[in-house]
Formats: sequence, structure tokens, C-alpha cells
Amino acid sequence: MGIADRIKEIEARTGKARQDAPLAAPATAVLAASKGQPVAVLEEALRAGLLLYGENRVQEAAEKWPELRKRHPGVRLHLIGPLQTNKVKEALSLFDAIQTVDRPKLAESIATELVKSDQRTNGSTDHRFFIQVNTGEEPQKAGIAPKEAGDFIRYCRDDLKLPVIGLMCIPPAAEPPAPHFALLRKLALKNNLGELSMGMSEDFETAIRMGSTCVRIGRALFGERG
Ligand SMILES: *Cc1c(COP(=O)(O)O)cnc(C)c1O
Repeated sequence: MGIADRIKEIEARTGKARQDAPLAAPATAVLAASKGQPVAVLEEALRAGLLLYGENRVQEAAEKWPELRKRHPGVRLHLIGPLQTNKVKEALSLFDAIQTVDRPKLAESIATELVKSDQRTNGSTDHRFFIQVNTGEEPQKAGIAPKEAGDFIRYCRDDLKLPVIGLMCIPPAAEPPAPHFALLRKLALKNNLGELSMGMSEDFETAIRMGSTCVRIGRALFGERG
């Protein structure tokens, strides 16, 4: 099966998941999680009409996307992996959105760089940000703890003036994802955020039924990673 067929299949499953799902969002974007995928494969996905991509590493995105973007100006690129403060400037030049804002130091560094780039371009930013929440409170995993999320969101939005639009989570691999999606949804509602980035190849239908506005799909689109 080629990528175009896989896209059709995912769209069909997405549509089906929305039926009889009172919590489903009015629309759910499919973001292609393209880590490890070579440019030739991305060209195939782009030709099939997919325009939203997520990369995990700044360096890999810098190698792959500037050329692709010249040929496909409609592309939107999100960072879905951890970001170090010393890579913030480069990340802002490559990505339209950063889904992994998860600590004050990083948020401050982003805010500082945004002010500088606004001064350079004499405009206001087009960037958008998601706060990553560690819903499973796993010590090794990125993300702000659920009980600290409210304060952190307010700090980013009100004090730093970051355009935060939503929340993102990666549930623990060994647990049913639904309670984590429910927690993320609850935190978003409580903090007045409209976007929910949740759901991957194994659980995107569950995520859609629970209100996801952005499912991040890798293997179901590109096949197993080598
Ligand atoms: C790789 C990745 C995905 C996609 O995972 P699949 O299981 O391949 O669909 C989604 N989100 C993040 C943050 C990832 O790193």
C-alpha cells in the first residue's frame, strides 16, 4: 500500500471514529509524524496532499525541510520532540508551531527570541505553541506535571505573552490511553485552550472520540520505522 492509500484509510477511520462521538471536536487535523523519513518519502506524502508534518529534532528538520518547503509553500511544520534552549532560535526559523513547551526556562527563551524576531521583521509572530503535559507523571518523560499545568499556562500566556493555543500529551506506553486523553481535555477546558494534540497510530481513534484536534501519526502512514 502506498502513502496515498494509507492517507485514505486513515481518513476513513477518522470519519468513522467521529460518528456517535459527542466529545469529538468539529475538526481533527492529521499531522504526519515524519521523523526518520527521507525526503523522497516526504515528497510522496506531499504529492498525496498531506501538508501538516511534525518532526522530533531540530537538526533533522533543518536537513530535510527548507528545500521541501520551497517546492511546497503550503506546508505547516510542528516540532513534536524535546527542545533545548540553545536551539530555540533555529527552531523558530524552521517550525510554525512548537508542541513541546514544558518548562519556564524554555518558555522564557522562546519569548525572548520572539521579541527579537518581531523587531527584525517589524511584525507580530505567526508562531503557535502547545504546552506538553506529562499526564502519566513519568519521571523520564518530558512535559509539565498536571498539577502545575494551570500556573505554567498562565505564566506563558499572561506574563510571557506567548500565543499558546493548546495542550499536547504522550500517554505512558503500557497504559490505556483514554484516561490520559480525558485528563488533557479537562485541563484544556479549565484553562480555556481549544487545541488538543493527542493520539498516535495505535490510539488515534480513541483520541478523536475524546476531542483531539490534532492526531500525530507515524507508522500508520509511513509503515514501521526501520
Ligand atoms: C513518533 C511520534 C508520533 C507518531 O508515533 P506512531 O506511533 O508512529 O504513530 C507521535 N508523536 C510523537 C511525539 C512522536 O515522537
